[in-house]
Amino acid sequence: MSNEFQPLQGMNDLSGTEVLRWQALETIAHKQLAFFGFTELRTPILERSEVFLRSLGDATDVVQKEMYAFEDRGGRAISLRPEGTAGVVRHVASLGEEGLQSKFYYMGPMFRCERPQAGRKRQFHQIGVEAFGEPNPLADAECIALQVHLLEAWGLEGVSIRINTRGAKDEHEHVSEGLRSALEPHKNKLCEDCQRRMNENVLRVIDCKNERCKTVSQSIPAMLDFLSETSQAYLKDVLEALRQLGVNAEYDATLVRGLDYYEHTVWELTHSALGAQNALAGGGRYAVQMGKKTINGVGFAVGVERVLATLEASNKGFSDEMEHQRYWLVSLGEDALKANMVLAMQLRKKGLRCGLELNVKSMKAQMRKAARFGAAYALIRGDNELKAGQIIVKNLKESLQEECDLQSWLRTHEGEE
Ligand code: AMP
Repeated sequence: MSNEFQPLQGMNDLSGTEVLRWQALETIAHKQLAFFGFTELRTPILERSEVFLRSLGDATDVVQKEMYAFEDRGGRAISLRPEGTAGVVRHVASLGEEGLQSKFYYMGPMFRCERPQAGRKRQFHQIGVEAFGEPNPLADAECIALQVHLLEAWGLEGVSIRINTRGAKDEHEHVSEGLRSALEPHKNKLCEDCQRRMNENVLRVIDCKNERCKTVSQSIPAMLDFLSETSQAYLKDVLEALRQLGVNAEYDATLVRGLDYYEHTVWELTHSALGAQNALAGGGRYAVQMGKKTINGVGFAVGVERVLATLEASNKGFSDEMEHQRYWLVSLGEDALKANMVLAMQLRKKGLRCGLELNVKSMKAQMRKAARFGAAYALIRGDNELKAGQIIVKNLKESLQEECDLQSWLRTHEGEE
């Protein structure tokens, strides 16, 4: 098919039943996140590039290779957001002291100019939360538990949680130095990227997926070994709180998460139903410098496409997934069409979802359309039914039909949905 009418590579149009699944997923998220005291924050999709450079770190892959960064007509450096946290943190910095205790969630599109492949889009969608406040192991554990709860509310089971610690901010340099000297004797065995990363962003060597790099990483001391007792105890407290909350999480020394803003707890959720790109969600605690303020918080982001793909792979849908139109009005002749147009307005005002064909068409053509819109019932009227004040109600799933008095049908379907 010609590309002329296709969206850009790595981006999708969403329509039909697919968009209904998205709406069902979003509705559940709004409800569940409110239970935990989060309110929605909608930040702009475009931000000054500096917002991301400052918080994610300028040596990170997202910033160096993946950001859609450009100059606007006024020569300002701006970027499409590659993730949600930086914008939320910028907003919190604009608030007074009370902002430093706030709890926000967001949902919407993120943009990364990566090589498109299965499970990796250039425009993808995340639902994320940010809970602001000083480092506190209980807050981290609650955030992870919320994430698991949300996935369960969507019907997802069997997620694996891997967790690690990056330690406090003031220990990062010491950890990087320690890892660098431990890696130095093995430098020649590392992949080309990692040889470069050793100087720029040594943590990325630890989570490199190359087998040779993995063997080297396993042979050197873990990040945890370079951390203070306080930071090690912080991780222990998180794990203990998770145990009390009944959440299973496995310590993984190789988990680092790519961005500079993280400190202490980092984690990732995966699901075996996904292929190579098996990460469903990731999160962590962070500290971002905004002018004179340090903004501390903990948060996560769930990949919506990946959640839906996992549900599909597990043959699961949402119980409140809707048909497009519950009723489809079928008109046999011009008089019936005009009367049905009035009836359709009446039904909609009662809160019933219905549609109808506005041209005079054959019964067969109208039934085809009813099926296309996923209608559960056809309401059929021709001249005879009009005269008699009747309507034929056809259950399209079970192919049953009955003739009813229109007024009594309307009374019994008051406020049905
Ligand atoms: P990250 O911000 O990279 O930790 O991503 C959080 C979650 O967003 C991941 O676990 C994925 O579920 C999802 N995600 C990240 N990048 C992409 C992408 N390019 N395409 C689809 N989903 C993505």
